[in-house]
Amino acid sequence: MANCDILIIGSGPAAWSCALTARQRGLSVTVAAADSATGWLAKAERIDNYPGMPQVSGQELLHVFRQQAEDAGAHILSALARQSMPAGDGYMTLVGNDIVESRAIVLATGAARPTLLPGEEGLLGQGVSWCGTCDGMFYRGMEVAVLSAWHGGVEEGEFLAGLAAHVDYYFLASHAQPAEPPYAICPGKPRTLAATADGRILLTTSEGEKAYDGVFIFRPAVAPDSLMPGLALEGSFIAVDRRMATNLPRVYACGDCTGHPLQIAKAVGEGNIAAISAASDLHNT
Ligand SMILES: Cc1cc2nc3c(=O)[nH]c(=O)nc-3n(C[C@H](O)[C@H](O)[C@H](O)COP(=O)(O)OP(=O)(O)OC[C@H]3O[C@@H](n4cnc5c(N)ncnc54)[C@H](O)[C@@H]3O)c2cc1C
Repeated sequence: MANCDILIIGSGPAAWSCALTARQRGLSVTVAAADSATGWLAKAERIDNYPGMPQVSGQELLHVFRQQAEDAGAHILSALARQSMPAGDGYMTLVGNDIVESRAIVLATGAARPTLLPGEEGLLGQGVSWCGTCDGMFYRGMEVAVLSAWHGGVEEGEFLAGLAAHVDYYFLASHAQPAEPPYAICPGKPRTLAATADGRILLTTSEGEKAYDGVFIFRPAVAPDSLMPGLALEGSFIAVDRRMATNLPRVYACGDCTGHPLQIAKAVGEGNIAAISAASDLHNT
């Protein structure tokens, strides 16, 4: 359990800019940073329009941003934030296997909104889960499937293999595997999910279909309104005002997740505004 003034969710320019300014405003800061090496900016070979750093690569820029935030005293949890819930005057968020309690939250999750499988959204919490730690115990001794788009699924699959009677592992996108995983690697690309008459989940893949007691799905990003129930969106972006405030109390958003233009300078500027707004609101409560 960690306690802080602000939990910043994300690991791109918006998150690091927000963390830096929040620290300068005297706030304690935790950053939930899923592997930034898989983020958008890491793919950019050369950036020419970020002032002061000509011809820098995305990797280099991210490294410098992160280091500066860390040096300023931001505490970094290298894990995916899965879900936030209101708790007292603030929020409780599951980050990897940690619970983080914060007075405010800043969403800096980038633009990626995962494409869900047909049937997935309606079955969430009813046999389909995005969190092994939260729901794994409900499937003790049962048959489950893991559908994973990234290496984070390996750890979850190993955890579930210690609980379930049998785990099948399917790839939503290819990623490395340990030499002897404690689960069965299955061929076939997942296509759809549906409920069966006896309360199981029918997974259809390019190779056929099979029913499971539970299906766990892991991706390197979580849709913002799944992360924070009740969050208002405009299309697939988070709705914010000029202070970067969302519709939820002391929840702010910045960067690509708030909309166009999808640019580093805009993300950095919005991260700065979100930190100043959060600091002002927290100092006045
Ligand atoms: C190939 C390429 C080249 C580009 N070139 C330029 C350029 O030259 N100039 C320019 O201005 N812009 C460029 N861009 C756009 C730029 O990368 C984005 O505008 C910028 O990175 C947005 O920053 P952000 O912090 O909002 O989001 P992102 O950089 O997308 O960072 C968000 C991060 O948060 C992490 N995350 C998401 N959800 C969670 C969660 N639930 N828990 C924990 N972490 C989470 C993600 O893994 C991701 O790493 C380029 C983009 C690409 C793909």
